[in-house]
Amino acid sequence: MLKKPIYVDNNATTRTDPRVVDAMLPYFTEHFGNAASRTHDFGWQAADAVDTARTQVAALVGARATEIVFTSGATEANNLAIQGITKKHSGEPHHAITVVTEHRAVLDPCEMVEQQGGRVTYLAVQPDGLVDVDELDRAIRPDTILITVMTVNNEIGVIQPIADISKVARAHGVSLHTDAAQALGKTPVEVDQLGVDFLSMSAHKMYGPKGVGALYIRGGNRGTALEPLIYGGGHEQGLRSGTLNVAGIVGFGCAAELCSKEFMTELDYVKRLRDRLWNGLNDRVSDIRLNGSMDRRVHHNLNVSFTGVDGEALLIGLDDIAASSGSACSSESHTPSHVVKALGVEDNLARASIRFGLSHDNTDAEIDYIVNKVADMVRHLRALSPRRKDDASHEENDPVVARWLGDR
Ligand SMILES: *Cc1c(COP(=O)(O)O)cnc(C)c1O
Repeated sequence: MLKKPIYVDNNATTRTDPRVVDAMLPYFTEHFGNAASRTHDFGWQAADAVDTARTQVAALVGARATEIVFTSGATEANNLAIQGITKKHSGEPHHAITVVTEHRAVLDPCEMVEQQGGRVTYLAVQPDGLVDVDELDRAIRPDTILITVMTVNNEIGVIQPIADISKVARAHGVSLHTDAAQALGKTPVEVDQLGVDFLSMSAHKMYGPKGVGALYIRGGNRGTALEPLIYGGGHEQGLRSGTLNVAGIVGFGCAAELCSKEFMTELDYVKRLRDRLWNGLNDRVSDIRLNGSMDRRVHHNLNVSFTGVDGEALLIGLDDIAASSGSACSSESHTPSHVVKALGVEDNLARASIRFGLSHDNTDAEIDYIVNKVADMVRHLRALSPRRKDDASHEENDPVVARWLGDR
């Protein structure tokens, strides 16, 4: 028997690995000290645990422990990098370059930079979702201080050419930040190979706990790279004050270590599931569109548009499949995804797209169930066409659709 609903929304968050939870538990009730307490064993134990985790997280991305600043997640890490560097340049003209398909956790801080007097260029993407590096090169100006481009997109899974972007950034002496929240455990992430100065991470996207992440800072802070956003005690090299989330950090460290060890096996496993899903959908459903490059994408994501169906009805119909229609943040309003639209997909088709985010917990049987259910539902919805967005009469007349709508 399949356990339902089936979870394929792993780009929104992943299940915490039980081994991670086990590693965390003693740090709530036994070793509950404050890592900043320097006068007793409780504090020392907590500080040791944080040191170990810092080494584990650093090792995952090929960094030194002194280059890791723990944060509450990738959102805060992005804010620290983007706002932290622009604060350093607040007295002079400054310009940043980003991409329209970035996560809100990059776009919103960039808007903040603009509100505070800086300038930002938002690059378009090519139809496959990738940045045109030459176009990025041309967008650099004398006052450009930062380029921020995500390693892997959270909605369509494409892998941006960060190492190529780094060459351009280096040639112009511009700092490079990447939001790698969706890349860790899904594609090799190594700070020297990527050539980045700042890199954001989030534990809960890689089988760790929510509420913890980190910013990698090349060379550590040394008082030069960034201005802090949070003041109050000078923790984390003065860059992020506040009592450390010791249990969360221990969990993040454990997840990083597991990721380093099990990454290659997971890639093979998830790729097999992804191929099974994509081939299954192609065999059973006509007129589907893959959003984002097939070659330059992580195996953990398939974002598919279904021509001629109402996206909302489709998601409601897939009631025992936990997928999403875009990012967790934009799916509530059911406006078409800004990422899928940026590929040149028109509104109705963009709205009829589903993001399948796979993990090492998914199984062949789950994939087969999903393929069948999606195929049935798409066929059913297409049979209702021709159908206009503003015409609800089909829904009322159709017993299956009426039942979903009644269930909401
Ligand atoms: C999830 C995600 C974030 C936000 O990370 P939190 O740790 O939840 O703050 C930022 N960027 C990307 C690409 C993400 O997928």
